[in-house]
Amino acid sequence: MDLPNSPPRGDWTLEQALALHELPLFQLVDRAREVHRAHHAEGEVQLCTLLSVKTGGCPEDCAYCPQSAHHDTAVGREPMLGVDAVRDAAQRAKARGATRFCMGAAWREVKDGPQFDSVLSMVKEVKALGLEACCTLGMLEPHQAARLKEAGLDAYNHNIDTSRAHYKSIISTRDQQQRMQTLAHVRNAGITVCSGGIIGMGESVEDRCAMLVQLANLTPQPESVPINALVRVKGTPLESMPPIEPSEFVKMIALARIMMPKSRVRLSAGRKELSKEAQLLCLYAGANSVFYGDTLLTTPNPDTSEDDDLIQSAGLSVQAPAV
Ligand code: SF4
Repeated sequence: MDLPNSPPRGDWTLEQALALHELPLFQLVDRAREVHRAHHAEGEVQLCTLLSVKTGGCPEDCAYCPQSAHHDTAVGREPMLGVDAVRDAAQRAKARGATRFCMGAAWREVKDGPQFDSVLSMVKEVKALGLEACCTLGMLEPHQAARLKEAGLDAYNHNIDTSRAHYKSIISTRDQQQRMQTLAHVRNAGITVCSGGIIGMGESVEDRCAMLVQLANLTPQPESVPINALVRVKGTPLESMPPIEPSEFVKMIALARIMMPKSRVRLSAGRKELSKEAQLLCLYAGANSVFYGDTLLTTPNPDTSEDDDLIQSAGLSVQAPAV
């Protein structure tokens, strides 16, 4: 068995992940807590704000996503936000305590041209405020990753979503290998990787563990791992999925913490349906970032006063700005 302070390893097997998953919840959380304390500052949480800079009309058919043009949801196609509006939003996020600002565009892939140029300007503005800058823009080519790096981008989010085996039941317009290619381009450009997934989409426990094994075996491991619970949005093919069992979410956080000891594990979408107590247990089990702000791209998120209360209840301190 690894010691809590063992360095990250890239040789996880599905059997090992399943064995962790089968531990009684409190034993699993204890293990995760030890790993967390060995690798991270005690009691610190990072606030990250996510803004949709280009909403809706996405040609991809991700079954969980209200922004897909394939689904009839209340989210319409909107024009791209201007650089000034994004700078103002980043400034407000910073004033509320966020140290990381992520900009999302509902694109299948990045296309060179004025819209991408605008994103590059947004990245520069966010960096000028002293925030960590992250983007999630779909698939990227190596030269686009290099331009984002040159603009100052710290991190690129590109989730692998679910296991390789379950992927085709969720998305038919791309395969997971294309995601892996973009992650490689991001890494090669010297940008840190943010990649995680979603539970509650009809996958098995094996699928969940296989997804974590795939993430943990990336070399190096992703610096940031968002763990999401499905937000069941009306009009998406997954709207009638049963809600996830909160203890299952806690288990995913604990597994991610154990398998990726140095990564920032982010409590992401789906928190609205988790009780405060379940979220506290996630923070105890090793989550050390929450998305802060009352919407996450287009889906509801706890409002900031609820999160202030959560952080205060846990006696956590918010990560200080780096600059
Ligand atoms: S998750 Fe991203 S790629 Fe998939 S439909 Fe939504 S915006 Fe498009």
